[in-house]
Amino acid sequence: MVVYDTVLIRYGELSTKGKNRNQFIRKLLENIKRALKDLEKLEFKSTYDRIYIKINGENIEELENRLKKIFGISSFSFTIKVKSDLEEIKSTCLELLENEKGETFKVITRRHDKNFMYRSDEINRHVAGKILSSTNLKVDVHNPDIKLQIEVQEENTFITSKKIEGAGGYPTGINGKVMLLLSGGIDSPVAAYYIMKRGIEVEAVHFSSPPYTSQSAQDKVLELAKIVSIYQGSMKVHIVNFTELQMEIYAKCHESYAITIMRRMMVRLAERLAIKNKCLAIATGESLGQVASQTLESMSVINEVCKMPIIRPIVTFDKLDIIDKAKEINTFETSILPFEDCCTIFKPKNPVTKPRLDKSINMENLFDYELLLEKALSNVETFYKQPKEIDSFL
Ligand code: ATP
Ligand code: MG
Repeated sequence: MVVYDTVLIRYGELSTKGKNRNQFIRKLLENIKRALKDLEKLEFKSTYDRIYIKINGENIEELENRLKKIFGISSFSFTIKVKSDLEEIKSTCLELLENEKGETFKVITRRHDKNFMYRSDEINRHVAGKILSSTNLKVDVHNPDIKLQIEVQEENTFITSKKIEGAGGYPTGINGKVMLLLSGGIDSPVAAYYIMKRGIEVEAVHFSSPPYTSQSAQDKVLELAKIVSIYQGSMKVHIVNFTELQMEIYAKCHESYAITIMRRMMVRLAERLAIKNKCLAIATGESLGQVASQTLESMSVINEVCKMPIIRPIVTFDKLDIIDKAKEINTFETSILPFEDCCTIFKPKNPVTKPRLDKSINMENLFDYELLLEKALSNVETFYKQPKEIDSFL
């Protein structure tokens, strides 16, 4: 039985990025190494268009699960590495087929080393000829049961029968950083996922209102950060005490405007934290029409307090699609734990769906919110969350 010894990783959208390519590859390699850092026997090598990982006996299933979550990988394969020699290639292909089920096959060769003495189609024919004469398999070029893929590089050739789809996107961290408003709900962790997928690092801010919100509510948010941190290696979470601001809002402003003004305060705080932490934008998990406060009118009144772009990755998503994604990325079960968040506890009975900017500003001028904003910012608690796989290693 043949044993896979090398993972071959292909980059997706990287190739469109021209001269930034080296930076991309460096970041991707860094992200891969970080995600696999407890698998100590692995050895890494990167070239212009591939990353190779020598497996050295590490667990293949674990490797597959982790690699599937790394943005910037378009696909990867577990391969057998041989010398770039036609006889070795042919015999290894035969051995590899012993593991495979099916009646038909196709050989697909990519010759990266243009000095190799055979062209791709010649290699295909030689290998197929050997298989036809040694087994009962038949060729089917359109819909084969088994796809044998051969990549000829200068010294070595990599042979595989399976291409595993990667997560796509860009290596996280390559396109700057945003400050995400992370609640304990379903939507904002999903927003985190989509932002990271675009190569942007996510730092989070959560507003808690103790003693009205519990320690468990805060732990839940930190747990969500830990779960999504797998997509970028680690995640910084700032916890901001929102109690005083919230109490003032409820004491001074009309109840129907409480949510609008609360959001405006949250965004003001998030923008200041973003500047301090070198983030280029802020982000939320808002989705249009989901609740009364998530209308275009409401969003524009919220945007008015902030110069930075506000990214809302799931603004047009259906709730069911968001839930599916939350299940896929493992945040759903944690998000639905019943710990109250500050918005739920202070939820007004009739929030305005079309808040007016002038009214919002007038209400805000009824108290010295600037003082409270600065006070909240002077007392921020910051946590660093890492994926559980890495946590247990350290
Ligand atoms: P989510 O599921 O993300 O909580 P939601 O549908 O419950 O979203 P809201 O509770 O109205 O909607 O929140 C909208 C967005 O505002 C959230 O996605 C999040 O980005 C931000 N937000 C709400 N509450 C908080 C909080 N306590 N701390 C940080 N951000 C918050
Ligand atoms: Mg919520």
